[in-house]
Amino acid sequence: MSVKQSQSVDDGVNAFLSQNSKTQLVTILGATGSIGCSTLDVIRLHPEQFKVFAITGVSQLSKLAEQVIEFSPQYAVVNSQEAAKQLSGLLQDSQSNTEILFGSKALCDIASDPSVDIVMSAIVGAAGLMPTLAAVKTAKRVLLANKEALVMSGELFIDAVNQNGAQLLPIDSEHNAIFQCLPNDFEYGNKHKSGISHLLLTGSGGPFRELPLADFSNITTEQACAHPNWSMGRKISVDSASMMNKGLEFIEAKWLFGMDESDIEVVLHPQSTIHSMVQYIDGSVIAQMGNPDMRTPIAYGLSYPERIHSGVANLDFSTLRDFSFSSPCKKRFPNLYLAIEASKQGQAATTALNAANELAVHAFLQEKINFTQINQVNDMTLQKHGHGNLTCIDSILEHDHLSRESAQAFVNTMIEAQL
Ligand code: NDP
Ligand code: MG
Repeated sequence: MSVKQSQSVDDGVNAFLSQNSKTQLVTILGATGSIGCSTLDVIRLHPEQFKVFAITGVSQLSKLAEQVIEFSPQYAVVNSQEAAKQLSGLLQDSQSNTEILFGSKALCDIASDPSVDIVMSAIVGAAGLMPTLAAVKTAKRVLLANKEALVMSGELFIDAVNQNGAQLLPIDSEHNAIFQCLPNDFEYGNKHKSGISHLLLTGSGGPFRELPLADFSNITTEQACAHPNWSMGRKISVDSASMMNKGLEFIEAKWLFGMDESDIEVVLHPQSTIHSMVQYIDGSVIAQMGNPDMRTPIAYGLSYPERIHSGVANLDFSTLRDFSFSSPCKKRFPNLYLAIEASKQGQAATTALNAANELAVHAFLQEKINFTQINQVNDMTLQKHGHGNLTCIDSILEHDHLSRESAQAFVNTMIEAQL
């Protein structure tokens, strides 16, 4: 169902269709978030090349209204009828012809609309899975920031990409870096053909790389969200602090490039200048570097195989100082190792871990559990739901649901123990 604006929709559609035929139409799932805003920053620099077709948001309706006014998309999607009315109210004094839709079907519709060329998947968490799959099934160029979608559905997601002829490009900076470091003739899953030894996935170690372990249970939400190098949404910031983010990225790399667990090594690199590397069998290592700014991988994804300006400053080597590397400590970052184990266990384990982690991080951000309890919830949920394989979308969604129920029960027990 749609909430129409008072102005004529025809005017907006005509203006929309009169774009240069080379212009690519882009849907941005999660436009109000950190990745969504960075995507709009890049598009703003290239109005001839890209036109925003649809944008979505949930709670940041004022920001969504500003985006509607600036980019005049054909559609803006929110999650409820109430939110649609609010957004409509925010736009009533504007000249906007944007059609306002709401609900999960609308998210899938704007991701799969025949006129759309590119879909940026930047909703956080499992909520992004179905609209991203809708884009995949209609053979879009899919720019994947939403790593949780791939972690929770793995093989099914990759099969859908291949069966439908979608073009999946990684936006996560590490995977975008690896993508840039692979040879042009890289064949999915065939590291031997390209002389690849293994992938080197770098991570900064986040804000607690040197914090005494005894202080971990007193970490505040503000401390956990204050990443030293990257500015990101709150969920991924907490994941970065616990290195669950690197664990999810480990699983993401496995599926994106068709690698085994033994083909991927995690390297701590606190400066976040090298975004990841590929080690070749002849001893060469090819790295991708740059300032830590997501506009670089976003611009590469939008314009691939060309390169366009992203608005990111050149790396200034005269000011670069330390360039250090180490291995992540298991005691400090248990979530990373839990994710690697889950990856070896199979689909039920990674779906369960992703679900538990989303729920536990949410509880931490609401100050209901402490930082170290995120790992406990993840571990216990994985023990309960980590076995078996999941081969269809319904079984994945059911397993996600059951895992969340168990994780919530563990959180409730922890809350009761604190009273
Ligand atoms: P943010 O929290 O900043 O943004 C999330 C976006 O998703 C917002 O537009 C938000 O709307 C929307 N959203 C939240 N919940 C739902 C829901 N249930 N249904 C539909 N939409 C929803 O996150 P980020 O931009 O930081 O991250 C987005 C994704 O990209 C994540 O999967 C993250 O792991 C990945 N990523 C992010 C990086 C970064 O640098 N930020 C780097 C690499 C990957 P609203 O804000 O209006 O409520
Ligand atoms: Mg990343």
